[in-house]
Amino acid sequence: MFPGAKAQSDFVDVLSYDVEISLNDSSNLIKVKESVRLRFKEDCDNFNLDLESSYSENKGMTVNSEVGVKEEGNKVSFNHQNHRLNIQPINAKKGDERTYYFEYSGIPKDGLIIGKNKFEERTFFGDNWPNRAHHWIACVDHPSDKAKINFTVIAPKHYGCVATGTLQKTETLGKGYKKHTFQSKYDLPTKVMVIGLANFAVNPLETDLGFPTSVWSYQKDSAQGYSLMKIAPGICQYFIGRIGDYPYEKLANVQSTTRYGGMENAGNIFYDEMEVKGKHSMEALIAHEIAHQWFGNSASEADWEHVWLSEGFATYFTDLYWEKQHGVDRFQERMKHERDRVIKFARRSPAHLVDEHYTDINQLLNPNSYQKGAWVLHMLRREISDLAFWSGIRSYYQKYQYSNATSSEFFDVMEEVSRKELDWFENQWLYRKGHPVLSFDIQEENQEFYFEVTQEQPGEPFIFPLEISLKDGEIQKLRVEEKKQRFKLPSNVKLGDIEIDPNVNLLWEKF
Ligand SMILES: [Zn+2]
Repeated sequence: MFPGAKAQSDFVDVLSYDVEISLNDSSNLIKVKESVRLRFKEDCDNFNLDLESSYSENKGMTVNSEVGVKEEGNKVSFNHQNHRLNIQPINAKKGDERTYYFEYSGIPKDGLIIGKNKFEERTFFGDNWPNRAHHWIACVDHPSDKAKINFTVIAPKHYGCVATGTLQKTETLGKGYKKHTFQSKYDLPTKVMVIGLANFAVNPLETDLGFPTSVWSYQKDSAQGYSLMKIAPGICQYFIGRIGDYPYEKLANVQSTTRYGGMENAGNIFYDEMEVKGKHSMEALIAHEIAHQWFGNSASEADWEHVWLSEGFATYFTDLYWEKQHGVDRFQERMKHERDRVIKFARRSPAHLVDEHYTDINQLLNPNSYQKGAWVLHMLRREISDLAFWSGIRSYYQKYQYSNATSSEFFDVMEEVSRKELDWFENQWLYRKGHPVLSFDIQEENQEFYFEVTQEQPGEPFIFPLEISLKDGEIQKLRVEEKKQRFKLPSNVKLGDIEIDPNVNLLWEKF
């Protein structure tokens, strides 16, 4: 997390950002005019916005001291150092709403990536995850302070321009410039507010979704980009049916220079430019980023340690889409592969899924947040039934859409909907390291045969259902609750004839 972000949020709640950004082709200097509308959560004599300071000539942002910071049009005191724009309001009381205006300029060190794409063409792409928006937008750079964003982009007229929200108008200015004005109706975390400018080919997609969908690829990649990304509306339709209405104004699928494979920016997903190539499929990546529109963008983690509410959800909802689209076998293959990732990661760096001890947010982009998070949802679905799972997912989404949740708030909803006590489940999978490491044995006693399960991992036993399949193919479901536990078998069965977890429903490892 960016230092101090929590403390700032204690004083103010940002309602909206209006950001006018001017770009040019002769340098990477940006000029920004920004208005921030906010509400005071406490009586307050100073508060901070995150804004990267200048660190050498023109690098980082310098606030225009002649304009200063204006509160409802009147100058107020401010200072800008250590990446914080500290503003001193006049007599601000809890509940007051005010607008602050200021201007700044500089070369962004990060966040807005100005450079060349794979065709050596100049491009501009916002890439904010997790808290890099403050390199080019003065903001509370934390997902818990959601706000509306209205971008106005002034740039050389040869660029196509995509941005969060709906394009209101494009005006031709003098000297070869154009002005693109966007407006967004929805409260968003800063991590998914972006602009993107490149030499785009734009292909609208015909759908009956009720909102515009499109593919934005580089002109030189346009046929390939279109053919790979045109599946997006179909995927989106599946999630709408399962979760609820699509949360944003549009779904633009954009080829870009993001540092990630894909970045789920709200309503305009940025895919890494190298993903657009050959016969390479983007299906799983597109499903992951579209699932984020509901989970991560709209229902967001309240703080970074709950990031599995974004990444674990996007991972599992891709698996669920896979199950529907490609069948149970392919779904199980994915779950096995994800389980392998979790096991390897647990050996290398054991940590809780909800890990409050991270020092760098980027460390949380790990198999715990993605694959273990997906497995937690998978086991939860098996624990409470498909019906309760889907109904719980819809309730959770409805309750926290355009808002934020913690892991326990998610489980509160799932408990309520399934009418099951799930504390034990939450504690063992979210707040405990590792997973069951199991060995098995067959024992004979008085001509009866027993299947013995031993939990070899250190510490208390895990509690879980274990499915086994005997020779006749019939599946038995055993409830394992002890470190060593045995179950009567119907007849003498060899260990080699018992298939453990045949339907890939348990996160476990063979001892
Ligand atoms: Zn993701």
